Order: sequence, then structure tokens, then C-alpha cells
Amino acid sequence: MRPARALIDLSALRHNYHLARERHGGRALAVVKANAYGHGALRCARALHDEADGFAVAFLAEALELRAGGIDAPILLLEGVFDVAELAEAARHRLWMVVHHEEQLRMLERTPLAGPVDVWLKVNSGMNRAGFVGDAVGPAWQRLQASGKVGRIVLMTHFARADEPERETTLEQLQRFEAATAGLPGERSVANSAAILGWPQARRDWARPGILLYGADPMPAEGNGLRAVMTLESAVMAVREIAPGEPLGYGGRFVAERPTRVGLVAMGYADGYPRTVPDGTPVAVEGRASRIIGRVSMDMLTIDLTELPDAGLGSRVELWGDQVPVNRIAQAAGTIAYELLCNVKRVGVEYVRR
Ligand SMILES: *Cc1c(COP(=O)(O)O)cnc(C)c1O
Repeated sequence: MRPARALIDLSALRHNYHLARERHGGRALAVVKANAYGHGALRCARALHDEADGFAVAFLAEALELRAGGIDAPILLLEGVFDVAELAEAARHRLWMVVHHEEQLRMLERTPLAGPVDVWLKVNSGMNRAGFVGDAVGPAWQRLQASGKVGRIVLMTHFARADEPERETTLEQLQRFEAATAGLPGERSVANSAAILGWPQARRDWARPGILLYGADPMPAEGNGLRAVMTLESAVMAVREIAPGEPLGYGGRFVAERPTRVGLVAMGYADGYPRTVPDGTPVAVEGRASRIIGRVSMDMLTIDLTELPDAGLGSRVELWGDQVPVNRIAQAAGTIAYELLCNVKRVGVEYVRR
């Protein structure tokens, strides 16, 4: 069987969730949108179910998958609903919903619902992507209240640059949030992963950790004690020697400068490993450091085994995980860990509970 697989360590997931909640205080919605950042939403939600205060997903279909799988904890729709039919269905399934623009507010006012829904009213405090701005927040809150269809209203906002500890932007966003919500009753939620780890000023009633649950530290300093949840691994499927001057792979990007022992690994960009990484990108072979040489292709990639004479056919290769931080690969690929994790596909997924 092709050895490419993603191992998901559910005890690391629980460890990271508890770390987030302890750091932040109060309660924490585990963000499991986008199939739990590629880790399997239902499996992750089940692993956290007894401990988590609730979950957050992007939209209705993601929440319904969890409900169908037996998750009866609170689930927040971070994008809210897209139409009236969704609104009715969300209410039926007791989902919490973000209301972030006028049309969603109107839908709530106009649509008869079986019972009250809990709303997270989103404030645009400077990201300028979604949410009610400044003076519009109070009136939106009043209209929700007056609709008679809303149970609890939580006030929330989202940070654009919480992963930049040197910048004032996050504190400015907090100030705008405070000003826009002054005098309104109810719980608050402002912190994503980066704010939980880097901004003690941004702790309120509910945290919304996403990426940190999966063990990729969003802060530049890292060192927060997160544990990698996903290990993307495969094995060497063939070995060959190439002589100095010989090219390797598509485009001949890598050319051997010395006799080079090349390991062919069953992992490619169709599995979600990024094609854009340069020669020298780290991998671990049976726990020892090696590097990618040559372009990543669809189903395979090539690594340098010259310094690892004991490694060969069948040697285990970690593409990211405990030994090779996914942040390191993201950096090499010019992207962020979020994108790499979400893009994992085609490989077998195995769950372990260490
Ligand atoms: C995705 C999302 C989060 C989680 O963000 P991380 O950076 O992964 O912690 C929190 N809040 C909102 C509104 C989101 O959309």
C-alpha cells in the first residue's frame, strides 16, 4: 500500500485546547471549520466533545455534519447564514450564528422561527472585512433585541494582525471594539489563536482558538508549548545514485554537485505537499534531518540521502510533524501553516490517541 498518510494525534489536540483555555480564561469555542483545518472535523469534535465549551465552523453544512455525527454541543456559524432557508434550519438545529451585516439582520427580523437563536453580533473594529462599524453596533443590537427571536447576544470582533506583537493595531482594534459596544450588556469574544497567545489585554468571556489547536504556533517567537497534531509522512519508494552534473526531476532544477544518493518519496502536490518549496527544504528520515532536492511533482518528491547511508527503501519520511514544524514548510513555500494543513488530501488519515 502507498505509505503516504496523515497521522492525527487527538491527545495533542486536547492538550492544545486546554492550553488555549487556560491561557485565555473563561470559555473557548474550538474552531473546526474547513474540516478542522484538514484534520477531520467530526473526529476532532468528538475528541474534544466532553471538554470543549462549544465549536465554531464557517457555515451551515459544516455544522450539520457535526450534528449528524452526534455533536450536541453549541456550534457557532462564523459566517452566519446565507438565506432564509438556512436561517430556519440553523434555528432548528440550535446553532449559534454570527450576524455581521445588514441583510442577515433583516432576514432575522422577517423570518418566523420555531424558537429563539443565539446571535454573535460582529463588530468591525478595523479589519474592514465583516461586521457593523462604530455607531451602527448599538442600533443593530437594539434591532436584534426587538425582533423577539434572539436569545443571547454575544458581542464579538476579529483581529487582522494579532500575530504581529510589535504593532499597535490589535490594541487599536480593541479600543474601537470597546467604544462601539460600551453600555451594551452581554458576553464578549475577541481572541483568535494569536491573541490568546500574544495579547493578554484581549481576553474576554469566550476565546476562539483555531490554528493553535492543531499545534501550529501563529506567533513569530513560538515556544508556547503547543504539540503538533498532524504528522504528514510517507516512505522512500526507490533509491538511485546520480553523478555530478546530472539533473534531477522536472525542469532539472537541482543539478548534483557531488555523487548524490537520491531517495524517491511517495508524496506530491496532489497530496497537499506544496510544489513551491525550494531545494533544501527540510524533511526527517527515520528521525534524522535531510532535505528536498529537485521539484516536487504530483505524486512524488525527491530527497537527499547522501549523508544517510543507512536510509533506503522503506525508510519513513516525515514531511511535517513533531520533527519538521509545519510552520517551517509554510515559510519555505511562501504561505502559512493554515493553508498547508487545509490542503492535505488523497493521503490516508489515521487517528492515534497517545
Ligand atoms: C477562523 C476564525 C478564528 C480562528 O482563527 P485562528 O487564527 O485559526 O485561531 C477565530 N475567529 C473567527 C471569526 C474566525 O473566522
